[in-house]
Amino acid sequence: MSANSSIEWTDATWNPVRGCTKISPGCKHCYAETFAERFRGVKGHPYERGFDLRLVPEKLGEPLRWRTPKTIFVNSMSDLFHEEVPDDYIAAVARVMVAAKWHTYQVLTKRSGRLRELLNSTLGFAAKQPHIWWGVSVEDRKYGLPRVEDLQNADAAVRFLSVEPLLEDVGRLNLDGLGWVIVGGESGPGARPMMREWVVSMRDQCRRAKVPFFFKQWGGVRKSSAGRKLDGRTYDEFPQRVSNPVLAADACLSLAANVEAAVKKIDLVECPV
Ligand code: SF4
Repeated sequence: MSANSSIEWTDATWNPVRGCTKISPGCKHCYAETFAERFRGVKGHPYERGFDLRLVPEKLGEPLRWRTPKTIFVNSMSDLFHEEVPDDYIAAVARVMVAAKWHTYQVLTKRSGRLRELLNSTLGFAAKQPHIWWGVSVEDRKYGLPRVEDLQNADAAVRFLSVEPLLEDVGRLNLDGLGWVIVGGESGPGARPMMREWVVSMRDQCRRAKVPFFFKQWGGVRKSSAGRKLDGRTYDEFPQRVSNPVLAADACLSLAANVEAAVKKIDLVECPV
């Protein structure tokens, strides 16, 4: 876990899975891939295998060992619902989130079909927990709109959209059942442009639907100079967080040990760990 994150809408990141594969146009300039590939072949580095997908069971219990409440972006360097991550491993990640409930978790995926299927079945024990927020990425109409529908059909307590990188006007979105919308433009070399009217449309739709709106950034090649103000102000709205007590230190350590021992029994043969 990284105790501090530079991502505007979270406090910390936790990566019990590393690496991923591209699935849609929003992945073109994936920051996680760029970062991970920098360290391919560097002996002993967490990203020695670059962006190849691998499970990291030794990281599973980390939120239980971290006893100060935080908002945690789960798998900032991967996609928890990637097809090569076994169902049992995803369930183990969810069990940690349910146990360490003094944190707030943000789980974001582009594999919305699998998110819907699992939340409506084996992850039912975690789906309705208000401290776990389940989200999908929306970069355009073709790939984004079906993901919104999958999310709306998932039996979750808190659902959110990350409309980033916003690559076109996504038009009128159905925001029923959604608790949060983040919007942002792409940043870095080769960043694709985002038009002001696309952002204004999303903000105004959120206003009408009474959905909290977070404007992350305009992006561009120099994202710091473009900033994150829209019409002279920032938008930093969040869903309401729930507050849960922190478990005693010895209970946390024993739960972490249990979850890490249990995961050793999961058949990981199919996964390139
Ligand atoms: S799904 Fe996310 S982590 Fe995976 S390649 Fe695409 S942008 Fe990167």
